Amino acid sequence: TFVPASRVSRIKVSPSTAASARARELKAAGHDIVDLTVGEPDFDTPENVKGAAHAAIDRGETKYTAVNGTPALRNAIIGDFQRRLGLTYSDNEMCVGGGAKQILFLALMASVENDAEVIIPAPYWVSYPDMVIANEGKPVIVQCPQETGFKLTPEALEKAITPKTLWLILNSPSNPTGAAYSRSELDALGKVLLRHPQVFVLSDDIYDQVWFKDEPMTTLAAVVPELKDRVLLTNGVSKSYAMTGWRIGYAAGPAPLIAAINKLQSQMSSCPSSVSQAAAAFALANDQTFIIDSVKVYKDRRDYACARLNAIPGLSCLVPDGAFYLYPNCGGVIGKKTPDGKVIENDLDFVLYLLDGVGVAALQGAAYGLSPYFRLSFATSMEAITEACDRIEKAVKALI
Ligand code: PLP
Repeated sequence: TFVPASRVSRIKVSPSTAASARARELKAAGHDIVDLTVGEPDFDTPENVKGAAHAAIDRGETKYTAVNGTPALRNAIIGDFQRRLGLTYSDNEMCVGGGAKQILFLALMASVENDAEVIIPAPYWVSYPDMVIANEGKPVIVQCPQETGFKLTPEALEKAITPKTLWLILNSPSNPTGAAYSRSELDALGKVLLRHPQVFVLSDDIYDQVWFKDEPMTTLAAVVPELKDRVLLTNGVSKSYAMTGWRIGYAAGPAPLIAAINKLQSQMSSCPSSVSQAAAAFALANDQTFIIDSVKVYKDRRDYACARLNAIPGLSCLVPDGAFYLYPNCGGVIGKKTPDGKVIENDLDFVLYLLDGVGVAALQGAAYGLSPYFRLSFATSMEAITEACDRIEKAVKALI
């Protein structure tokens, strides 16, 4: 019988995938489920982006490309970082892959060994710890409570750094909280990092264009230019342009790290899909009305859902700066009893109660490393969000 290698048995399947799958199963079995577990835009990919893919096929762009992508995509990425963030990168400082997820994995594979430590602020995107473990590193989880806006403080960072620290992962705006670091917060973290030259920063900015604040979004490499050569800035088209299935992500950073990632990529996939690259290049380099329009819609949903949840006794929710998730606190329902007499001991019990009791699928905070919370996605219709809020309210009110 087949026995997987230890790097496989050490890690787990993404819990968000598992929960979404369960909600889909229940739906398929005829249950009335409002699914708020989705981690992707509910919008279709913009028509003009699809058109660019058709045109690429017609031009015969259906072959392998350079490992670091087509010139059109590279120029579009470099242009985007320059325009939006004021950051200048050259060709040998950027790489592309099959989603930001692949780039993050390759970056860790290219750098981590011998239990090198990777600081991961919690709550975190579920994949980070397992990616570190799969690559023989040691995740160092730092709890970032609601009181600090779910953000890493300079003091907490300083305490977490050891001589073995190789990476700090920053994800702003964050999945699952939507919290984003301000210019002054990044500056303060930067001051700590400047004292520890062995630490690199994985800046996962995949949600940076799903942005609700008036002040412009920013990122560590732009705020602290002295750190630019220690930051791997990762991004992609999945969330901003509703292109999750096209699988294009990219990163910019120090040339030696990029060269190592490209070397691995040359042996792993050669290059991402040529057709998807053409579509992504078009999305980045042409008119951005899709982003403006979709963010308006997300913002209305965010405001509505936050107001509804904050009006439910026992729940409370910070207003996210970006991304399309809410991370409400459910501390007020812990210890209560369901109408069936079951005690809600933790956030997993609570999401199971929501799923079985009122047919709302959400994800437990435990999966993201900070309890008692649960994650709701508002990348779904206002109708579904309204229905979900009604049901959650009913479920919480039914607790004794
Ligand atoms: N980073 C974060 C925080 C995410 O939530 C996701 C997707 O869920 C990704 C990276 C990966 O995005 P992709 O691989 O689609 O580019």
